[in-house]
Amino acid sequence: MSRPPAIAITSTTEFIRHVPRVRANEAYTQAARAAGMRPYILPPLDPRDADDMLEGMDGLMLTGGEDIDPALYGAARHATVEDVHSQRDAFEMALVHAARERKLPTLAICRGIQIANVALGGTLVQDIPSEWPDALSHENVRDQRTHTVLLAPSSRLAKLLDAQEIGVNSVHHQAVGQLGSGLVATAHAPDGIIEGAEWTGDDWWLVGVQWHPEEMIATAEPWDRQLFSAFASAARERFAL
Ligand code: MN
Repeated sequence: MSRPPAIAITSTTEFIRHVPRVRANEAYTQAARAAGMRPYILPPLDPRDADDMLEGMDGLMLTGGEDIDPALYGAARHATVEDVHSQRDAFEMALVHAARERKLPTLAICRGIQIANVALGGTLVQDIPSEWPDALSHENVRDQRTHTVLLAPSSRLAKLLDAQEIGVNSVHHQAVGQLGSGLVATAHAPDGIIEGAEWTGDDWWLVGVQWHPEEMIATAEPWDRQLFSAFASAARERFAL
């Protein structure tokens, strides 16, 4: 039981100097490693490859990125929706289902909580400023705790953070709308925007957050480090079975 858990980290493709390249923010791989995991970048492949690519993995980290195609949750596309990556959407939807089948511990961050919600039948708020006029600002503060979130007392998230309210960074213009099947909201911003959701049963460790804990692991507050540590523990338990 001495080996560190192996974690698959989702990524995107982007044209850089005219060549499509696979990329993920280094903050994810660094945060995983700092919490004692072995990070492996998982490229967006064919959805039929999703289950096979999780073989040998102890956990899945769904990362941030592009807006999800609203057609996947039955909505007409709002004018603010941009950068849709259809292959990534399809692959990650399949990953969520494969992870659920495999009971693979899953940490879903930003776009990750959104794709998990959509894969499980939920919807999204496509653009917070347009659809939620009284909302506070959720965009473009990557390196500071810009708003608070209130944690649902009995949630896995509140227990693992050992807190009722925490401060978070915020880099999103979309949010979870109606919850997908099997999910419960675990964190809300003061304006009511959903900032956390998780699987309700004990049979699958799926914890989703709308903020970016990977950007905050060097701060004085322990919450984001605790989130990655809890994910590492769940992944370690998984392969101990
Ligand atoms: Mn936010």
